[in-house]
Amino acid sequence: MNKRKFLKQLGLGSFAIAATPTLVSSCESTTPEDFKLWMWVGGGANKPEKEWREQFTRLSELGFYGVLAGGNVETLKTTVPLAKSLGLEIHSWQWVMNRPGNKEAMAHPEWYAVSRNGDSSLDVNPYVGYYQWLCPSKPEVQDYIIKGMTEIAEVEGLDGVQLDYVRYCDVILPRGLWEKYDLVQDHEMAEYDFCYCDTCRNKFRSESGYDPLDLEDPSQDEQWRQFRYDSITNLVNRIAKEVHARDKKLSASVFATPTLARKFVRQAWDEWDLDFVFPMIYYDFYAEPIDFVRTATAEGVKALKGSKPLYTAQYLHDKTTEEVAVMIKEAKAGGSNGLAFYDYGLLNEDKAKVLEDLKNTK
Ligand SMILES: [Zn+2]
Repeated sequence: MNKRKFLKQLGLGSFAIAATPTLVSSCESTTPEDFKLWMWVGGGANKPEKEWREQFTRLSELGFYGVLAGGNVETLKTTVPLAKSLGLEIHSWQWVMNRPGNKEAMAHPEWYAVSRNGDSSLDVNPYVGYYQWLCPSKPEVQDYIIKGMTEIAEVEGLDGVQLDYVRYCDVILPRGLWEKYDLVQDHEMAEYDFCYCDTCRNKFRSESGYDPLDLEDPSQDEQWRQFRYDSITNLVNRIAKEVHARDKKLSASVFATPTLARKFVRQAWDEWDLDFVFPMIYYDFYAEPIDFVRTATAEGVKALKGSKPLYTAQYLHDKTTEEVAVMIKEAKAGGSNGLAFYDYGLLNEDKAKVLEDLKNTK
């Protein structure tokens, strides 16, 4: 980092300390201790320690409670002591079912989910090139995933594991994304509908007595939908058992509400054995106004029945300072326990200004 950049960050850091109480005080009935701020911070093996240090330091100064940090076991050897020294909780951010370019998994092509059209997502990537989904029903896939998550959970000092992409491929995209992919998804389209591999079909047939591919319209079959909710739920709960046995917390980033998550990606996340949850209430993805942050948060809070904290996740891309201020207010009004922002790289672009504006409006 050159001197000018360093001084700039130092300046922002100092300003941010002053701004933090303002950010928190906009919540009338909660204290900094019970309204928590989280940040996703990406980065793997090649990210220098110095960079992690600068970013974590800045977040600590801004009053953040915790980081959802990228990287593997090796990375955690650097990031865990660093986060702890700065008073931050650190949870390891892990992709679960979507495994783009995963060499170990690619040695087993049969591990990948198969669409209703019969295509493996290893070869035919739905929507985007980085979509390569594993089948959650195969015991060998479950064992591979659980082994990986267990290795992470064994890292000393780590606070927890945060699951991402713990779901099926989007069978339907949220409404705000249809134009981007030039699709009208008013029904479940076969090429985005998973998983119809032999394992899934045989397991379902042995439980129900029929093959989902024999149905005229598999999307209308309640039992087949439930099979897939359960497939992910069972995997999450097996991961939870291992993570909890190592005295670590388990959380997940999930779709906006339990209803929408079931419909779009087969996530029954209100039934999962998590310690807390991060619903990604990215209102513009859903073509909803910003008060969707409040209503979706409230729906999730209600579904959880007080069983665990819910932290409303927000995507900072293309957000104005005013929108960020409003999203914080709406999340609080919906009963959220805090906010998680995606991601640190976007904080660099506009978050300092957000904090400045929040300060000036008080
Ligand atoms: Zn399958």
